[in-house]
Amino acid sequence: MSRNDLVELAKRRGYFFQSAGAYGGVSGFYTYGPQGATLKQNVENTWRERFQIREGHREIDSPTVMPEPVFEASGHLDTFDDMLVECPECGESHRADHLVEDNTDIEEAESISIPDIEDLIAEHELVCPNCGTELGGVPVEDFNLMFETNIGPGDSSPGYLRPETAQGIFVEFPQLAEYARNQLPFGITQIGKAYRNEISPRKSIVRVREFTQAELEHFIDPTEDVPDLDRVADVELKLYPADEQEKDDGDYVYKTVEEAVEEDIVHEWVAYYLGVGKQWYESIGVDMDRFRYRQHLAGERAHYAADCWDAESEVDGDWIEITGFAYRSDYDLSKHDEYSDDDFTIFKQYDEPKVVERATVDPDMSYLGPEFGGEAGDVAAELELLAERDRAAFEDDEVTVEVGGEEYAIPTEKTGFSVEEQKETGEHVMPHVVEPSIGIDRVVYTVLAHAYGEDEIEGETRKRLSLEPEVAPTFVGVFPLMEKDGMGETAREITEDLRAAGFDVTYDDSGNIGRRYRRQDEVGTPFCVTVDYEALEDDTVTLRERDSTEQIRVPIADLPDLLGDLREG
Ligand code: ATP
Repeated sequence: MSRNDLVELAKRRGYFFQSAGAYGGVSGFYTYGPQGATLKQNVENTWRERFQIREGHREIDSPTVMPEPVFEASGHLDTFDDMLVECPECGESHRADHLVEDNTDIEEAESISIPDIEDLIAEHELVCPNCGTELGGVPVEDFNLMFETNIGPGDSSPGYLRPETAQGIFVEFPQLAEYARNQLPFGITQIGKAYRNEISPRKSIVRVREFTQAELEHFIDPTEDVPDLDRVADVELKLYPADEQEKDDGDYVYKTVEEAVEEDIVHEWVAYYLGVGKQWYESIGVDMDRFRYRQHLAGERAHYAADCWDAESEVDGDWIEITGFAYRSDYDLSKHDEYSDDDFTIFKQYDEPKVVERATVDPDMSYLGPEFGGEAGDVAAELELLAERDRAAFEDDEVTVEVGGEEYAIPTEKTGFSVEEQKETGEHVMPHVVEPSIGIDRVVYTVLAHAYGEDEIEGETRKRLSLEPEVAPTFVGVFPLMEKDGMGETAREITEDLRAAGFDVTYDDSGNIGRRYRRQDEVGTPFCVTVDYEALEDDTVTLRERDSTEQIRVPIADLPDLLGDLREG
């Protein structure tokens, strides 16, 4: 199957198509049609079941527009850039790293520095894909991917469309920690639109400017183990670690989750979610022979990630990143703690109060006058810091502190230095974060691409989507062999009953029966029910399975239960 086959089928059968076609369309924006929107929702629901409900996490729903300070703190304003090269002849913009990847044998160019990528472009005599002009010597620049807007009239309050749903969770951490009763670990999910002003959108819904992310931010205490590793310990992972990628003959490494942790190949929390992820992808029909987990190379990681593994699927000879599993450490919470007025730590209660020695000062403020260089308070604050850090400094008769670049010697007795025993009931800890960040559109694309197949039926080529029943947008097609003699009426009654029982049903009475089956095969409908003459005599119908095309006769009355079982798998 080529990418074009899939895009053509997706458009014809109502899965997805470029939006606003009536106005020429805009690159990077897609509409999901009647089948696609349901497929996407079904995928999202299975994600909720696996990553949220099964794991005991909770979902939130935060705004898609956020004020500038959020992205100053998160680092997106400064560093969320791609490398842009603009053709001096036709003005078309290109991603410099993609240009290199597409035209050399370099596979991952994202981590290459700007001067080096400029050299590569010149060295390989790369040209503008649009007009063929040589791009050697053309400057490469950083381009920030966030869409900017103004909040309210005027431009005094800039805002940005969120480039990831995650920040909406991080900024609310102080509230969310309270709901979690300040107990780690706890997880918060969010699913919704994210926006990136991609330099060159491509591969239909794989790289778009508005897309859906499903993210889980799991807040953990880094000193504690994963509590439930057992749940996924035996799941087999196909791993492509960074050191293998750097070898000429690097290969995949096959490990269970447990082995990957024991052998220190993957961080234990990340490994846990690679296990969960694999179970999920498999259940929705991602072909495990065309799937792998690839570790990011050191220079490739996002500004916040301490370690990152991507789930990648193979489509049409290309590996596509469908999910990033990042160990974000305490990067985001520390930044928001530093930039905002709120406290982003958790107070971790000790089992037993701890007795600790605490050094304090109680300086004679009348003594610490302006002759000590600054305000008396500045000197006192400096003494306080010193007491915390270096008790030995108070062992002599005089203590030396530096204020405003000058050193001052203060008689120790005037500092009120003392060491006391205190009981501490707990401590403030900055949680770490592990994050599976799923691009729903790329998952939907993969599910469709891996479901697509062609075979021969009665001498004719049939195109079909072998979608898993759990995600297929239409679950069952109901057809009367012919409209006449009461078959149409019976088929409509069956349709009505099955809809009332919660099934997604398509009723179709147009065209010959073979053509109707083909139509549903191409849409990916797993089952079809046909009402024929026999049905009118004995109240049975044929039930046909899409992939095998096998048919069995079943009593009409048994259909809801039977289809229910088939849906459950
Ligand atoms: P890429 O390197 O492909 O640009 P990324 O590493 O920047 O992606 P992340 O920031 O890790 O992506 O985002 C998490 C997930 O969001 C990705 O795994 C991907 O599935 C999805 N995603 C990111 N950018 C886009 C996009 N422009 N269109 C569709 N999905 C996207």
